Amino acid sequence: MAAQTEESDCAREQTKAEQDVDQVRQRAVRDQQRLDSGAVTSPKDLENLQHEIASLAKRQGDLEDVVLEVMERRESAQERVAELTERVGAVQGKVDDATARRDASYEEIDGEAATVTKEREVVAGAVPADLLKLYEKLREQQGGIGAAKLYQRTCQGCRQELSITDINEIRSAAPDTVVRCENCRRILVRTSESGL
Ligand SMILES: [Zn+2]
Repeated sequence: MAAQTEESDCAREQTKAEQDVDQVRQRAVRDQQRLDSGAVTSPKDLENLQHEIASLAKRQGDLEDVVLEVMERRESAQERVAELTERVGAVQGKVDDATARRDASYEEIDGEAATVTKEREVVAGAVPADLLKLYEKLREQQGGIGAAKLYQRTCQGCRQELSITDINEIRSAAPDTVVRCENCRRILVRTSESGL
C-alpha cells in the first residue's frame, strides 16, 4: 500500500510538472508569435520580448528536467509495486492452499464424526439402560472415558496393574458380569489379551 501511495503521489507530481512545462511552452509560443507578427516595433520592447523568450526556454528546460526526475521516481515506485504485488500473490497462494487443505480436513473430520456418532448410537441402543447410565456417569467423572480395556492385567483407563485378588475375582466372574477397576472405578472390558 505504501508503494502504491508513493506511485500515485509520483503520478500526481508528474501531471503537475507536465502542466508547468505546458504553461511555459504556451507562453513562449505566444511571445514568439508576437515577435514574428511584426506588431512590436520599439527596440526596447523587442529586446524585452527576446529576453523573455530566452528565459522561458531556460525555464522550460529546467521544468522538463523535473518531469524526467519525477518519471524516474515513478518508474522505480511502479517496479516496487509490481514486485510486492507478486509477493502478495505468492503468499496469498500459500494461504489459499492451506485454507483448502484445512477445509478438506474439516470435511473429513466431520464425516468421520458423523459415522462414529451413528456407530455409537447403534452400540448404545444394544446396551442395557442401567449399564449405559453407569457408563455415562463414569464417563463424566473420568475425563470422557467410562470404560477401559483390561490389557495384560492392567486397566487401560488408569494404567494401574490390578492385584492378584482382583484378577482372581474377575477371572471367576460370569462373562456378562460388569467388572470394574478397583482403582479408578471404570468399567473393565475383558478380552483375550486381558491376561486372565
Ligand atoms: Zn483403572
